[in-house]
Amino acid sequence: MDYVKYNATVRPTKLAIRDLAHNLVLSYSEFEDLVARCATFLLDRGVVAGERVACLSRNRAEMIILHLACARTGMIFVPLNWRLSEAEIYGLLDDCQPRLLVADQLAKALGIEYFNIDELLEQASALSPYQSEPVSIDTPSLMLYTSGTTGRPKGAMLTERNIGETALNFALLGQVSIGSVFLCESPMFHVIGLVTSVRAPIMLGGTLLISDAFVPERTLERLGDPTLGVSHYFCVPQMALSLRTQHAYDPSQLKYLKALFTGGAPHSAARIMEWVHDGIPIVDGYGSTECGTVFGMPLDLDIIAAKAGSVGVPTPRVQARIVGPTGIPLATGESGELQIRGPNMTVGYWGRDEDYREAVTEDGWFRSGDIARIDKDGYFYIVDRKKDMFISGGENVYPAEIEALLVRYPGIKEVAVIGIPDEKWGEVGCVFYVSDTSEVTAVELSEFLSGKLARYKIPKVTQRIAELPRNSAGKLLKSSLRLQYRDNKE
Ligand code: ATP
Repeated sequence: MDYVKYNATVRPTKLAIRDLAHNLVLSYSEFEDLVARCATFLLDRGVVAGERVACLSRNRAEMIILHLACARTGMIFVPLNWRLSEAEIYGLLDDCQPRLLVADQLAKALGIEYFNIDELLEQASALSPYQSEPVSIDTPSLMLYTSGTTGRPKGAMLTERNIGETALNFALLGQVSIGSVFLCESPMFHVIGLVTSVRAPIMLGGTLLISDAFVPERTLERLGDPTLGVSHYFCVPQMALSLRTQHAYDPSQLKYLKALFTGGAPHSAARIMEWVHDGIPIVDGYGSTECGTVFGMPLDLDIIAAKAGSVGVPTPRVQARIVGPTGIPLATGESGELQIRGPNMTVGYWGRDEDYREAVTEDGWFRSGDIARIDKDGYFYIVDRKKDMFISGGENVYPAEIEALLVRYPGIKEVAVIGIPDEKWGEVGCVFYVSDTSEVTAVELSEFLSGKLARYKIPKVTQRIAELPRNSAGKLLKSSLRLQYRDNKE
């Protein structure tokens, strides 16, 4: 019996899903019934275990139903990032070779055959429910493409064991329970959407509200709406900043919120403290497509304030260690590569065994590509991505450390630092900043940073920019900034 079936058995009339964009409301028994009928629908269309069912759609309940139907039949659900270009989407389809593509009108322009997601529930409802023999929880049920921040997206295969561990750990961090109402606005083609925001409440018998877009003013209204009673919400740091800077932002309106989760990208201590001062229980956590929920802060404002800037401690059954360049574990306080191991970890990249062998050590540790350190209390801090580090005068410089200070500079709204070639030092820091007010010079920033950072870390160049380049997950694309710098110079 899986979690949905269990909840349908013990609390059949409890509200499971409310799809805000499509006016669909499902109790647990209705939800279960649709999953079972949708499994029959997939089998009737000739899809067999191990084959992929791709989906190109904005967030909606059908995506969850399809995914769970795949889990029950041993098929692999592949939600695609609709924000990608047509060529990129073709690339992903070519990579995963789906037997069936289910899509909303986003697929029209692609000129390939697809089943219209608008018709799914009506068609499935006419079929009989699939009475399944349980599929092993070690069978992949989901394939999520990594964000492609550092290279080509890779299809990470996740099993129900991986998903269950991640969702329960996420629920534990934010104290998600049967009484919770979770608003999911994160795209369901990311782990934070379909795995954590969706699975955590539906595993525990809570209620899931589905939104198909982040519109900051509307999100604030929803978070303050007593008829919705949203208790849990996840957003990337970029979205959190956007909520705080709305005219309508009023922390007293957010009194139903039990946990505001953030993660997916660095969240500076300064920004975290703004929420803490407003009394909002902000829970920052670290995770990835491959490993799901890895670290999280405890839901305790005193600890959150004392450890602001940390991503928290490893979640249950997740092992994490920091290693030096030769793979030897480092001492407390030392920075090195973060490696992760546990039942949360992906079982492989689709069709890319070589990449998987490179990503995982012989004894099963996933090389995260992030530099991190642990403090004496066991709290982890993400220093930066390994690929973003640069070397100035022979010393390693982690841009994230500089960025965390610069967000406090008056007038700077957003900031990113990259290493640029320099004749004297090898590389020096270049600051890209967004400001509504005035130009900021390198000399001014150098004065601000002096005494706070070692001299070799202080950037020598500044460039004002209208907007920082980000991908759909809100992740900063430093590769675009490097290109932009090079193009500006030429
Ligand atoms: P690709 O692997 O394709 O280059 P990606 O690394 O961005 O893309 P994701 O799995 O979407 O793929 O993101 C995981 C990464 O996001 C982590 O390795 C880390 O760099 C970053 N990250 C996630 N959460 C946090 C956090 N709380 N603080 C800082 N960085 C974070």
